[in-house]
Amino acid sequence: AHHDALTGLPNRLLLAANLDQAMEHAKRHGKKIGMFLLDLDRFKLINDTLGHAAGDLLLQTVAQRLQQCVRAEDTVARLGGDEFAIIVNELEEADSTAPLAGKIIQSIAEPLSLPDKKIVTSTSIGISIYPDHASSAEDLLKAADAAMYQAKARGRNTYHFYTPEMTTEAAAYLALETGMRHALATGEFELYYQPQIALGSGAIVGVEALLRWQHPTRGMIPPEEFIPVAEKSELIEAIGDWVLNTALSQAVSWSSQRLTPLRIAINVSGRQLNHMINAIGAAMQQHQPLANGVTLELEITENMLPSVERSADVFLRLKGSGMTIAIDDFGTGYSSLRRLKHLAVDTLKIDKAFIRGIPSAADNTSITSAIIAMAHSLGLKVIAEGVEYREQLTFLRQHDCDEAQGYVISKAVNAQEMTALLLKRMVDPAISLLH
Ligand code: C2E
Ligand code: MG
Ligand code: MG
Repeated sequence: AHHDALTGLPNRLLLAANLDQAMEHAKRHGKKIGMFLLDLDRFKLINDTLGHAAGDLLLQTVAQRLQQCVRAEDTVARLGGDEFAIIVNELEEADSTAPLAGKIIQSIAEPLSLPDKKIVTSTSIGISIYPDHASSAEDLLKAADAAMYQAKARGRNTYHFYTPEMTTEAAAYLALETGMRHALATGEFELYYQPQIALGSGAIVGVEALLRWQHPTRGMIPPEEFIPVAEKSELIEAIGDWVLNTALSQAVSWSSQRLTPLRIAINVSGRQLNHMINAIGAAMQQHQPLANGVTLELEITENMLPSVERSADVFLRLKGSGMTIAIDDFGTGYSSLRRLKHLAVDTLKIDKAFIRGIPSAADNTSITSAIIAMAHSLGLKVIAEGVEYREQLTFLRQHDCDEAQGYVISKAVNAQEMTALLLKRMVDPAISLLH
């Protein structure tokens, strides 16, 4: 009842008993204790892709390696799943735990060779110190947990010490994370759509799907606040699936109302990309035959291009089934033209920061016209986003920009309002006045 069957390590119960004892002992002798909480990075992915047998073997190997890293008087325990804990006894100084953390990280990162494959994993470690950070076992574990969360947030494969500010930060994160799980289950997420018009005709040619979260007590939470939190957990994958399927169902509905041809763009963020490209193939197979006349566009940012490059073949296949690629917020990163060409990017979306300065700021106008000219010479389409004023529309038309999106045309609206706009096609009579 005190040991974990898979690894033979002490379980949570025995850990708690040992911790009480260790704290008692440390108190009497004026020593400190280091509490380590470890979580394997991306263990779920390994388990899902390589199978449970490989997952089990990895956990057993990790258990052995952890025991080799510590002294006999320390306790290594498995808390469940891919979570482990270590009690480091008899510390003179809190800092003396850092070399141990470094050693553990290195040891876990060592690939595990199976007959037919290699498994590579890493671990994130949170460290709290008794009595510096907490005086009870429960609080000490909580502190280590908050620190582990920070380590994950810092990009995994690293360790982090607890600091008091962390508790509030971690609580806020946790609340958002729990909230998002709940939101997915209860339908608090909604897709809004913002029209994109062809500058030549003034007609709507595409829409960008933008995620909205109507929180029951906090009201509308902007995507820029919750997407980064979702990205730090596996939640981003579920949210991405939801966005993809909702957008494609909407495409089917618009298609059946003959509101086509139409392009629907969805946003994909960095940590989401791998999962998304796998999901898209299946989702398109399911919906696309019904969504006649609708093209799916993937909006990615410049800094994601290297990962796109690594799965170039998958992208080409997706493109073969009718998907297009747009580079979002273009001009804020560093992308090489060769890359854009090589990856068969279709569209550049000029970042709103440049559009904002039009027509008064000389550098913004020249950057914008240069981007348009360059994109055209590469055979790419250009959309200006964040267009708020008529003068900006005029400038963009004069410089041959293909499309525009922004408040001057319409803000993002719900599906029903978007349907009404699509029925009209011409969004704002003033736009056709520009001709
Ligand atoms: P983005 O893809 O660059 O989207 C454009 C943002 O600019 C949207 O904000 C839009 O409402 C806003 N906008 C549109 N017209 C104007 C304008 O004329 N002036 C100004 N100042 N802003 C304008 P939103 O909806 O808050 O989205 C913010 C960011 O959140 C998006 O930036 C995108 O990166 C991310 N995001 C939104 N939905 C999703 C999603 O489903 N998945 C992922 N991964 N990210 C999303
Ligand atoms: Mg976008
Ligand atoms: Mg953008």
